Amino acid sequence: MEDKQTILSYGGGTNSTALLLEWVKRGNRLDAVIFADTGSEQPKTYDFIDKYVKPFCREKNLPFHTVAFTVGKKSRGVMEGEWEDGQTVAIYDYYRYMEKVPSMMNRMCTAKWKIQPIEKLIKEKYADCIQLIGIDAGETKRAQRTRDPKTGEWVYLYPDKRYPLIDWEVDREGCSKIIKEHGWPSPEKSGCYFCPFQPTDNWIELYKKSPDLFNKSLELEQGNTSYPKMTLLLRGPKRLDWLKRSLETQTSLMDFGKDDNHIPCACYDG
Ligand code: SF4
Repeated sequence: MEDKQTILSYGGGTNSTALLLEWVKRGNRLDAVIFADTGSEQPKTYDFIDKYVKPFCREKNLPFHTVAFTVGKKSRGVMEGEWEDGQTVAIYDYYRYMEKVPSMMNRMCTAKWKIQPIEKLIKEKYADCIQLIGIDAGETKRAQRTRDPKTGEWVYLYPDKRYPLIDWEVDREGCSKIIKEHGWPSPEKSGCYFCPFQPTDNWIELYKKSPDLFNKSLELEQGNTSYPKMTLLLRGPKRLDWLKRSLETQTSLMDFGKDDNHIPCACYDG
């Protein structure tokens, strides 16, 4: 592995932060850290990166790249004069302008705002590199692996993508421990603040901690042309205005039930 350039795909959450710290601590080769910024991450994610991750990378002489989605000339917003060809557009602004919300059936948001910008930079600067991905040992189903039909051993589907946390058998708790032992606070949950794939608990947290971002999400939800068929809240009360009302009137949140804490996509980062 050491012969090849190695980059870490950084998401701003617990898993990729632990991976960065542990990988460097073990003395492994690392050539760069790449963060795909959707422009609509939680403010605390940006603060964490600025306060801890970027100075760490500087100290270790590691390039920290921030990449982002840019619109093309065929995009409706460019053709209508809202954006310029090649302009960076935050995911919230894009969906707001298009009067849409990300949907489970059309998962292009992860590809456009996360995967493609990273792949583009890799192609330009780190072709033929190894890419480290922060999926932990408690969520192995998300890793692109399969069983070797002859040996029965788990093998990676794409040899250029590695999941060291799985190899080291470090689960989410282990990730938190690594970060704590390094002396850093726990990062916030990463991902877009209006992500429709997040659990209801995250929405409740957003409402309490960042009511402005909750209200922006509400505007996005109500401004989409398929509303109320398409909403951002996929579980529980199913609509953000209903969730907001129940929080304001103290309706029992137990009625919404519990859901899993993962954003079921490549964006989830602990
Ligand atoms: S965090 Fe959610 S909304 Fe943002 S890119 Fe990922 S899946 Fe899409």
